[in-house]
Amino acid sequence: MTIPLSESARSVSPFLVMEILERAQELERAGTDIVHLEVGEPDFDCPACVTQAAEAAVRCGKTHYTHSLGNIALRSAISDYYRTRYRVEVDPGRILVTTGSSGALTLLMALLLDPGDSVLLPDPGYACYPNFIRAFHGQPVYFPVDEADGYAYQVAEIAAQRTPRTRAVLVNSPANPTAAIQSRETLRSLVELGIPVISDEIYHGLEYGVRAPSLLEVTDRGFVLDGFSKRYAMTGWRIGWLVAPGECVPALQRLQQNLYICAGSVAQEAALAALRGAEADVGRMRAEYDRRRLDLLDGLRRLNLGVAVEPRGAYYVLADARHLDPDSRRLAHRILEEAHVGVAPGVDFGTRAEGRLRFSFAASASRIAEGLDRLEGWLRRMSFRPSLAGM
Ligand code: PMP
Repeated sequence: MTIPLSESARSVSPFLVMEILERAQELERAGTDIVHLEVGEPDFDCPACVTQAAEAAVRCGKTHYTHSLGNIALRSAISDYYRTRYRVEVDPGRILVTTGSSGALTLLMALLLDPGDSVLLPDPGYACYPNFIRAFHGQPVYFPVDEADGYAYQVAEIAAQRTPRTRAVLVNSPANPTAAIQSRETLRSLVELGIPVISDEIYHGLEYGVRAPSLLEVTDRGFVLDGFSKRYAMTGWRIGWLVAPGECVPALQRLQQNLYICAGSVAQEAALAALRGAEADVGRMRAEYDRRRLDLLDGLRRLNLGVAVEPRGAYYVLADARHLDPDSRRLAHRILEEAHVGVAPGVDFGTRAEGRLRFSFAASASRIAEGLDRLEGWLRRMSFRPSLAGM
């Protein structure tokens, strides 16, 4: 018996970074040492206060379902975070604690989309966005972001893409994979389009020399997703949050009750400890990322892998590798097999990032240096061949 799959399930494309990672793990099992610059995963352990809070939560039996919106202590701490960091008031009643920011995106797509509706999103952008939209029978509609503009969103171009079926516009700042930060004016102009704005602020707190404004600084009618994965190095805890306009909370709560019941109880205790006590850890990690960022930028430029726009946030560098091979998936596989360095193919993030490679500086400084050395040696060996295209 063949099991027929839904059209939406069939339309979800693979995450190519995972393809590289899985092949890298196969090589590692066979005894090859691989430098991982492909994954967006902090190499830091999570802060000690987080682990301690989780241990205490397990010991005290905080292992049951919580309120569907999340523990009120955590939602209040998230509200305090907005007051302290952005000077905005966010009523805890507008905050849902979710299973990572991915859980928040799932709830949002379920909230906003009927079959055939569309969401506007950046190209290049986070590889999973279009698949969240497709999984809920929606249609991703891309707007270009260009390195010539420093990857600043061009609001007039976004406006030109809207149709009566447009249900939202997605902003990601600092962004994966461009690491660009959108200005407060851009956020304000997006709000003025009158389309619901979804702002993915998961990389907030990982900025270098500038501060990313929050959508909540310009409107209380937007959707903001954020979480603990990135700046607190808590990827595996699967905990994040969503801020929504008040009138959407009852519907989001119904979705959460049915789809998830609630976010993990132990992870919620860990997250509360992070907000209350891990700012110094975040500061240390950010300073270390900044050092790695400068080392990686220097190294890539030395290797003639051009970086048109310096990363201002997150932990990614998007580098031009078109002179090596315009097909970034083929090139990334080749670099993995021959240089033993994992890099993410640009095409994973949209057609406009084809020919680019995304390097993550979430790996340690010594592994980044080792990866650059391996690439240098590999490029030298390859220099006998003028172009790798077509190989
Ligand atoms: N948004 C962006 C832009 C991301 O890069 C990621 C993780 N790679 C996520 C959301 C999902 O993060 P999480 O579910 O761990 O919060």
